[in-house]
Amino acid sequence: MPIDPRAPYDPNNIFAKILRGEIPCKKVYEDNFALAFHDINPQAPVHLLVIPKGAYVSWDDFSEKAPAEEIAGFIRAVGQVAREAGLVDPGYRMLANVGGHGHQEVPHLHVHLFGGRQFYAMVPQ
Ligand code: AMP
Repeated sequence: MPIDPRAPYDPNNIFAKILRGEIPCKKVYEDNFALAFHDINPQAPVHLLVIPKGAYVSWDDFSEKAPAEEIAGFIRAVGQVAREAGLVDPGYRMLANVGGHGHQEVPHLHVHLFGGRQFYAMVPQ
C-alpha cells in the first residue's frame, strides 16, 4: 500500500527498526549519515537500498527539511555504496519512489541501487 510522502514519521516502520538493530539486514555500508543493505526482494543481480540515519519519510520530506550536512552526507554515501559495489564502470540505475504514484511502500526515505545487468531505456508505462 503506497504511503503518504508528507505524513508524520512513523518510528515503527521497518527501516527504522533496521536502523535501531531490532531486525537484521544484510549490511554493506554504514557511516554517520547512512546505512546500506541488500533489498530483501531483489529486482536485479545487485539491488541495494541506501537510507539516511535521520527520520525522513520520503525524498520530499528529506529535501525540504534535512540540514545541508545530512543531505550532503547522504548523497556522498549513495555514491560511495555504488563505487564499493563495483557498479560505476558497468553502470547502474538509482531510484527513489515517492508517494502514491511512485508506489513508495516503506515510509523511510530509501534510494534503490540496481546493477549487474543491462536496464532498458526509460519509457512511460
Ligand atoms: P519502495 O516501494 O520504494 O518503498 O521499496 C521498498 C523496498 O524495501 C522493496 O524493494 C522491498 O523489497 C524492500 N524491503 C522491505 N522490507 C525489507 C527488509 N526487511 N530488508 C530489506 N529490504 C526490504
